[in-house]
Amino acid sequence: MLEFHDIHVHYQKVAALKGVSISVPAGGIVTIVGANGAGKSTTLRCISGLVRPSKGEIRFNGERIDQLPPEKIVARGIAHVPEGRRIFPDLTVEENLRIGAFLRTDTDGIERDLENIFERFPRLRERRTQWARSMSGGEQQMVAIGRAMMSGPKLLLLDEPSMGLSPVMVQEMARIISDISAAGVPVILVEQNAGLALKLASYAYVLEIGSIALEGAAAELRSNDHVRRAYLGG
Ligand code: ATP
Repeated sequence: MLEFHDIHVHYQKVAALKGVSISVPAGGIVTIVGANGAGKSTTLRCISGLVRPSKGEIRFNGERIDQLPPEKIVARGIAHVPEGRRIFPDLTVEENLRIGAFLRTDTDGIERDLENIFERFPRLRERRTQWARSMSGGEQQMVAIGRAMMSGPKLLLLDEPSMGLSPVMVQEMARIISDISAAGVPVILVEQNAGLALKLASYAYVLEIGSIALEGAAAELRSNDHVRRAYLGG
């Protein structure tokens, strides 16, 4: 579904990605794990058009998208939940969710999807009229994911959804990500929490200073010596 081929990215003189290739099938969860600064967020920003590669190409369902502006990439069905949530603090939970549907005109579909999100996140239904800024970190992460789901995505990009959450919330987030994938939306999950990511995903890439160091079935990488030592605390 998504082919990310030999991508190079430079920020001024810093090479953030040095020939990264990633392939994402039409279903399931693919994860990219790696340390701080490895280039995980840059990879997602390239896919959603926020950063331009200096070399390489990105194809989505066969169409080349690496020269398209971000709004056209959203319109193709790629939704990106950035690191740090970035919700609109001075809007209510429901207003935040509805913004996710800004490119859609199918009123019935929008109402149906809003209802689905409230089913999936009962806490958001309870708090639909509450200011987003007054929500807890985990609840804000739910709003951010819910907003992305309101665009009716064909592919969901999640950047560090577990960051800063309590262990209970991390488990809740894991359930939500699995549910989204089970409902038929493929997910690219970027995580520093490699233990969580390798449990959720079927396929994994390990990114180290801008290059893919390892890739394979997530279950196999979980028992790989290097992965265990470097990312799973031995
Ligand atoms: P983290 O988990 O800490 O966000 P990451 O794996 O997502 O790390 P990136 O944010 O993609 O890594 O950063 C990759 C490299 O590019 C790092 O060396 C980073 O300092 C650099 N970088 C990222 N954004 C910029 C920018 N806007 N300007 C200059 N350098 C940048």
